[in-house]
Amino acid sequence: MFGANSNPLLLIGVVYAVTISIVSAYLWAGGQFSARIRHLLIIITIIFGFATFSPMIPHQFQGLVEHLAEGQRIGTILFSGIIGLGILTLLAALFGRHFCGYLCPIGAVQEAAYTIPTKKIPVQQKGILSAIRGLFLVAMIGGAFLFGIELLDYFGFSDFFKLTLSAGTLVFIVILLTSILIYRPFCRIVCPVGAILQIGAFPAIYKIRRTDACIECGKCERACPTNEAKAEDSKSECYLCRRCIEVCPKDGALVYGRKKV
Ligand code: SF4
Ligand code: SF4
Repeated sequence: MFGANSNPLLLIGVVYAVTISIVSAYLWAGGQFSARIRHLLIIITIIFGFATFSPMIPHQFQGLVEHLAEGQRIGTILFSGIIGLGILTLLAALFGRHFCGYLCPIGAVQEAAYTIPTKKIPVQQKGILSAIRGLFLVAMIGGAFLFGIELLDYFGFSDFFKLTLSAGTLVFIVILLTSILIYRPFCRIVCPVGAILQIGAFPAIYKIRRTDACIECGKCERACPTNEAKAEDSKSECYLCRRCIEVCPKDGALVYGRKKV
């Protein structure tokens, strides 16, 4: 998957992401997924990122685009990459974005930075952010096909997780420092995989939903860093961070469950 056959460490990371996405969805649906499990997964994912540089799907997605731009034949790497991205998108469509929530190292380090207690800057314009991210996806593909440019490399997460000092590493450190104040700037403005998984998660079957126990106090809406906690929100930009659930004063008012049919 994403060329994982060429490096067993990459394969371990990808298997981890897919397996834990499914296990997490199962635990969420049973009401057994706690904040402690989430914190533990974020720590494990960050360790995976530094130790194996996996599951670094945005990086592998860029590699996939490069292969296509170079006109390479659909061989094992391309085929497994397309299948891999398809599996993650399918999982987002079934269960929401568990991968982005705590299984992507790039998202996990931003999430960890945001937990540093300080006054936050709310950025709630999810439509504008998603539009910018969609344009970046187009620019990234266009740049690769027309000019052979690897736009994502300028954001430095690759060097950061490989512990290599470079201009890119400094860019990513600035992104991380920004993440202390603003929720996941890279994920919400730049990440091309986030753009794809958001589309996948629009019709997600399992997601956080309000029940009749809701007393409309609005606490979840004020706590949500991505402006996805209103009853009518699609949850396509929900990172399953649990902030809405943790502030909700009514037991059972927010549940992770199947779409009402
Ligand atoms: S949006 Fe991109 S960088 Fe952020 S968690 Fe999802 S895949 Fe990772
Ligand atoms: S606060 Fe709730 S709705 Fe908002 S991103 Fe976190 S889990 Fe999703």
